[in-house]
Amino acid sequence: METGNIGNIVILGGGTAGWMTAALLRRALPEKISITLIESDQIGTVGVGEATIPPIRQLNQVLGIDEREFLRETQGTAKLGIMFEGWRVNGESYMHAFGPVGKNFPFCDFHHYWARARIEGDGSDYWDYSLNYQAAIAGKFSAVSKIPATNFSGLSYAYHFDAGLYASLLRRHAEAKGVLRIEGKVGDVLNSSRRDFLAGLQLEDGREVCGDLFVDCSGFAGLLIGQSLGVRYLSWDDWLPCDRAIAVPSSGVAPIPPFTRSIAHDAGWQWQIPLQHRTGNGLVFSSTHWDDDQALSVLMRNLPGEPLAEPKIIPFKTGCREKQWQGNVVSIGLSSGFLEPLESTSIHLIQTGVTRLINFFPHQKICDEEIAEFNRLSRLELESVRDFIILHYKLNERRDSSFWQDCASMDVPDSLHRKIELFRKTGKFPKEADSLFSDSAWLQVMIGQGVRPKSYHPAAGDLTEKQLRAFLQGMRAMIGSSVESMPPHAHFIL
Ligand code: FAD
Repeated sequence: METGNIGNIVILGGGTAGWMTAALLRRALPEKISITLIESDQIGTVGVGEATIPPIRQLNQVLGIDEREFLRETQGTAKLGIMFEGWRVNGESYMHAFGPVGKNFPFCDFHHYWARARIEGDGSDYWDYSLNYQAAIAGKFSAVSKIPATNFSGLSYAYHFDAGLYASLLRRHAEAKGVLRIEGKVGDVLNSSRRDFLAGLQLEDGREVCGDLFVDCSGFAGLLIGQSLGVRYLSWDDWLPCDRAIAVPSSGVAPIPPFTRSIAHDAGWQWQIPLQHRTGNGLVFSSTHWDDDQALSVLMRNLPGEPLAEPKIIPFKTGCREKQWQGNVVSIGLSSGFLEPLESTSIHLIQTGVTRLINFFPHQKICDEEIAEFNRLSRLELESVRDFIILHYKLNERRDSSFWQDCASMDVPDSLHRKIELFRKTGKFPKEADSLFSDSAWLQVMIGQGVRPKSYHPAAGDLTEKQLRAFLQGMRAMIGSSVESMPPHAHFIL
């Protein structure tokens, strides 16, 4: 399989995926490669996707977007983690806080010391050792890389932002750097003589836009990768039962918490994403267990403020394309697959998808080996995120609704089963290269969902009881005083 050099890239779609792709490709590729983006105001975007994870900051840095400009333009706020409320049992919460918990020793991770102390009767909570968690619940924030006068890292943070405003910001940056935008609705594709290779896109008004490489950012429609090339969509709904969402913005809250809330309900869960000017809300649920009216009534009863728009129903299918790259079409964003927003991963997957495309960008001609490696890495990444999300559902101890009972009794992928059992029995954790979520993230969700390791690494037995107590006590005190001296979150977003 081959084509000539890639001289023209055409991106279909101007949602977060389209504009992130345009901005990043423009930043990375030589100017002689033209980039055109087609979008249709008439179709619009999905309009959700407002919580992120920390690597978004690197994206902004690479694109030269200043943090103050970003916060102002997108009505952004800081995000220190996600509070999971009622996920293990009703009435109990835990946080997946970004950043480390405690401090690892060279050969033995911190949680083994905590597990030993717990087995020996210490009542301290795992999150007593998380700077992010303690700052989050105190409503504090400070963008420092280290706790002053220590070698303990500072807060690890991401952002909440208004999705429409972020796409506009990226658009301005991309257009200023030479990306050409075409407004119009694509009605057809122009095939080339080669199988799976497109020659161009035809707009409904008859205009034709030709290209050498096409990036499908057309959202759930998957216009190029799915409808034109017929790449199948693999469903993961055996493991992830939710298939619908209802989204509605509400008036803002004060003070603005520096974390996302994920509140479990009887047949799904609700998100609350606090922005400067409003709160983004939605309910993700299983249509097998609830109809739209039931879901809507739960969502509207639990809004943190006055609704600001009509609720929008968004059906979705959890899963991914069998291949993310086929012929001269690469799918990025919702066209390539979707995992529900429980861990705010979709925008990040756009970022890694475009980065991967840049890494594997054809030097001269598109070759099968590049495509195969791109697809292999994409699948590994998606499966690892999938397992992490399933973990939250599988480990619940709620017996108050059939939805949660079904989740607790489902079989999970072997890869996930192995992880849970290893941790449960030994407190150890498989080290995975290139996993998006750190051990700290997995540990917090496992512990938060009720798995307590039955033993700990022998190295954690080296300290005397007194030394262990002093070590843990010292760490709690250091975190406590550090949070005490931080300014409120509001100072960051003023
Ligand atoms: P879209 O926003 O749907 O954009 C598609 C684009 O294609 C539009 O510009 C449209 O006009 C264009 N288009 C389509 N067909 C045509 C055509 N024929 N001609 C011309 N143009 C066309 N992600 C996170 O990281 N964090 C979250 O908190 C989060 N929450 C979510 C909640 C829900 C309920 C859902 C469904 C998703 C969520 N996501 C989240 C995912 C996130 O919203 C998406 O990854 C992100 O918005 C990117 O979407 P997109 O650009 O792929 O698609």
